[in-house]
Amino acid sequence: MSANKATKLAVIGRGMIGSAAARHLSKMGHDVALIGPDEPADFSRHDGVFGSHYDEGRITRSYDPQPFWRQMNRAAISRYGEIAAESGVAFYREVGALYVGDSETTNVASVGKICAEDGILCEAYHDAGLAERFPFLRSTAGVQGYFQPRNAGYISPRRLVRAQTIAAERAGARIIDEPALGISESSAGVTIRTRSGSVEAERVLVAAGGHTQSLLGRSLGVTVYGRTVAMFRLGAAETQRLNGMPSMLCLGPKGDNPYILPPIAYPDGQIWLKLGGDPVDLPLESEADIKNWFRSGGSIEVADRLQTQILERIRDLHFEERRVVPCMTSFGDTGLPCIGPLSERVVVAFGCYGKSAKCSDELGRLGGMALLGEAKAELALMATSLP
Ligand SMILES: Cc1cc2nc3c(=O)[nH]c(=O)nc-3n(C[C@H](O)[C@H](O)[C@H](O)COP(=O)(O)OP(=O)(O)OC[C@H]3O[C@@H](n4cnc5c(N)ncnc54)[C@H](O)[C@@H]3O)c2cc1C
Repeated sequence: MSANKATKLAVIGRGMIGSAAARHLSKMGHDVALIGPDEPADFSRHDGVFGSHYDEGRITRSYDPQPFWRQMNRAAISRYGEIAAESGVAFYREVGALYVGDSETTNVASVGKICAEDGILCEAYHDAGLAERFPFLRSTAGVQGYFQPRNAGYISPRRLVRAQTIAAERAGARIIDEPALGISESSAGVTIRTRSGSVEAERVLVAAGGHTQSLLGRSLGVTVYGRTVAMFRLGAAETQRLNGMPSMLCLGPKGDNPYILPPIAYPDGQIWLKLGGDPVDLPLESEADIKNWFRSGGSIEVADRLQTQILERIRDLHFEERRVVPCMTSFGDTGLPCIGPLSERVVVAFGCYGKSAKCSDELGRLGGMALLGEAKAELALMATSLP
């Protein structure tokens, strides 16, 4: 594939990766159609596609155990300011990220070690020192904490998608607020079918999150799972008490390693504290499975477990109401996203491992580059090795 200026390109999926790809490609001067629907107003009655960005809190930080993801995180975080400036939409709060774990039974020390080796600013706290620095923690005996104060905190995935969409549109992209119903490829180009007509393009990037494989009609070796998060509505006094709380990642065995977002204002005007770390791997194997999962409203049993975990971690937490929210995530065997060509004209960017929101701008950029013929071999491997 050769990349000419003003190539007619389509991106399917106006989520975190697709909207980022559209921004990058439009800014490079290409003629881009970004195809994907808005967030459903009512999950229980929605008959279309779903996404993983319908929320106000996703943890961001430079640190990751794997070098590839640290590189993605750094590249994306360095452009948060640019995206906000291009769109006029603020989506990032640098409140820091705190890793905590029992110093005997978890590998929490590796966080400090990798941060030191990789030049990531990180403060270490232990026992009483941890309690003094983060007084909202319920128990700190034997616990080691590593706090990343810079380039860390949370983003609003909803606002980031909006920001990327606005920036892409300002750079010339055409937004088509509809799902793609099918893709057909010929020697002349690609036709993408939507309810209101067809979109013709020379090449298409499919970044449809959990729906990617069903839209393409083939497996890419990635499994989509349903996930439940629990949200806790806080009153004014609790919000005030937890002011300054960072994003938190609790290390521990599977099922006892939640992540916690600090109090965040949601569109309903209320302040919610969110907890995730659902240990139940519920595979969603078809379109029907995905739809039924989102319509179900998530698992009460998992939310009960998450509630116990938050009460164990935040001292004297008092909440007014609990909400149970379904989401989906995807995992492959390589630990890397799947970004590369499937054919002459169809390229994919997908595979989130529950951690691609923060670095979606870089993953989208790589998806865009793959569409222009510059795929990274190690990411394209899964797609190209299929029969
Ligand atoms: C509970 C939970 C917590 C998470 N927490 C974090 C976190 O703290 N930090 C972090 O970095 N990441 C986190 N993630 C991961 C992050 O949200 C995902 O990695 C990210 O949303 C994936 O981006 P995506 O573009 O691949 O998919 P999505 O963001 O899901 O976007 C896919 C888009 O494709 C659209 N689409 C689907 N089918 C079609 C179609 N046929 N036609 C057109 N459009 C279509 C959908 O409408 C959607 O907008 C979390 C994920 C979950 C589920």
